[in-house]
Amino acid sequence: MRIYEFSKLVDVTSKELLDALQEAGYGQKTHMAVLSDEELSFLEKTFGSDKELKVKKHKPKKEAKGAEQEQGAASEELIIEAMTPGDFAHAVRVPVQDVILTLLKSGIVAPKNRLLDEPIIQSLAVHYQISYKKPEIRHEEKKEIFISESADIKKRPPIIVVLGHVDHGKTTLLDFIRKTRVASREKGGITQHLGAYSVDTKHGGIIFIDTPGHEAFTKIRARGVKTADVAIIVVAADDGLMPQTIEAINFAKQMHVPIIVAINKIDKMSSPQRLEVVKRQLAEQDLLPEEWGGQVVVVPISAKEGTNVDQLLEMIDLQAQLMDLEADVAGPAKGYVLESKLEKGRGAVATVILQQGHLRIGDYFVSGDVTGRVSSLTDSFGRRLKEVGPAHPVQVAGFSDLANAGDLFEAVDKTQLRKAKARVAQPVKVVYKEKAINLLVKADSNSSKEALVDAIEKLSRKTEHADFHIVQASVGDVNESDVTFASHTGAMIYGLHVKTGSGVQTLAKKEQVHIELHDIIYKLLESLQERAEKEKEVKMIDKKIGEAVIRKVFDIKKVGVIAGCYVQEGIFSAKGKVVVWRRNQNIGEGAITSLQREGKTVKEVHTGFECAFMAQDLTDFAVDDRVECYISVPETA
Ligand code: GDP
Repeated sequence: MRIYEFSKLVDVTSKELLDALQEAGYGQKTHMAVLSDEELSFLEKTFGSDKELKVKKHKPKKEAKGAEQEQGAASEELIIEAMTPGDFAHAVRVPVQDVILTLLKSGIVAPKNRLLDEPIIQSLAVHYQISYKKPEIRHEEKKEIFISESADIKKRPPIIVVLGHVDHGKTTLLDFIRKTRVASREKGGITQHLGAYSVDTKHGGIIFIDTPGHEAFTKIRARGVKTADVAIIVVAADDGLMPQTIEAINFAKQMHVPIIVAINKIDKMSSPQRLEVVKRQLAEQDLLPEEWGGQVVVVPISAKEGTNVDQLLEMIDLQAQLMDLEADVAGPAKGYVLESKLEKGRGAVATVILQQGHLRIGDYFVSGDVTGRVSSLTDSFGRRLKEVGPAHPVQVAGFSDLANAGDLFEAVDKTQLRKAKARVAQPVKVVYKEKAINLLVKADSNSSKEALVDAIEKLSRKTEHADFHIVQASVGDVNESDVTFASHTGAMIYGLHVKTGSGVQTLAKKEQVHIELHDIIYKLLESLQERAEKEKEVKMIDKKIGEAVIRKVFDIKKVGVIAGCYVQEGIFSAKGKVVVWRRNQNIGEGAITSLQREGKTVKEVHTGFECAFMAQDLTDFAVDDRVECYISVPETA
């Protein structure tokens, strides 16, 4: 019998059983672990005394520790305040299991980490004959920052994210779950794409974040925000662990999100041995499967045929039970933006998942630099709601502008709103750094590209004397046109999990373009940082990146003299400077102050296009003048 099966029999949560087992010295286990005879007897004794159990009886070989141990009660005065059985046991120096049992005897089921009310602590103190007093000053802030005086703590459904290598079956799995679990129960099914939806299980709702490769997730990752409670890592049985699988695993570990592994495509695996191979690979990543004595639940599934998907949902549910997911439904609404878009007739809308409180129509809110007032709330079935509580994805309309995925979302009062608006209206202070390092970024997938771009931007903000400027970021191996583009923009090429195509190295040598490829993001960032350090000493030189011919000159009052030209070669960059030639005579040079194409300000204009520019201290332009564009690059690049 497994722990979770026993849990159903005695109607005590797996978590409580696990805590009790651990306290009694049976070691750390998971709800999937098979109980030994000895453990079973212990649990029966502890939790099943007044219940008729249909469990085979075995004589315990070892007496349960703890219950019979002497009560080493402390002599100091105990201050009565909200604490957990664990805290209490620690304070009065008795085994925690003893405390849990004492509580159980008086009808209170409280695992080690559940906060207890003061009257309960008081009765415990009486039981253990501890002298106690009430605290003179009440601490407002208890264990959990979110809990306020008027907190109303309720259970909430778990939020799940599905991660894994491309083509391993994430979408198929989510589709299967959605089709079998949602559409059948809700008339009309899902009508709104919210990027997240709730499904029903026997035990309650589960929220799935629908867009695993989605930008939101990278942003969420970049900010270290923990929206998901559990990560499902999908691994195709035949492929095994791939780079993105490992990235996903590391990512979940970083965020301290528990992992459940689904080995997918078992309907077409070459041999059942593949399961063992994948498990071995998982073990190499410190994810020791349960059946090998580890902690990680591994479920073999076929997302296509639906095999074992129910079992996977049950495992998610059990994991969620272990986590005691709760939220304060009374506090001010607070949560995260999952995704944001413009909708016809409704303006900027965003999918929001609250972590606490209730959001209502008419509430003011702030999210990053965006403010607003809730004008409507819509769930994934297209139903208009008046209010929404924690964990349920909802589309909020009433944003002043597009919100950033991953940003905190908070309901505020009018004063706070005014303050936020004033803060947002402040002009952004731009810090010009001495040196810009241009980069062309390549990665193997959209999600790693976004993760990389985010990380580089962050590094750029941190680096004092240099700026990393990403001229282009794209997915795929480094090709010849990347090299040409890098050469024109004075960029270095940095690749993550990619190779160079044929002929690329030769061209790069010719064009003097630096290419660097890495398999680990941190190594790449480290190398960039070193480069920035080196920049301190590096001499900058001007590099020609493009040439144009002037076709028209406009002298506009109060604006200045504008050169309208046609780019014949390379690129014109708004960051560059121009040198003007009239038949072999140098007319002058100056930094570009404005670069436009078809009336719009642009960063670059490429060969074959017309553009207009103005340059510092340069007004003497004439038709047919030749203009060269230069940018400053490090000499070694
Ligand atoms: P994603 O990139 O991880 O979202 O992968 P998809 O869900 O798009 O799946 C990639 C391909 O694998 C598709 O052609 C699916 O039909 C196929 N696929 C997904 N799950 C299974 C499965 O359990 N069995 C089989 N035979 N094919 C699957």
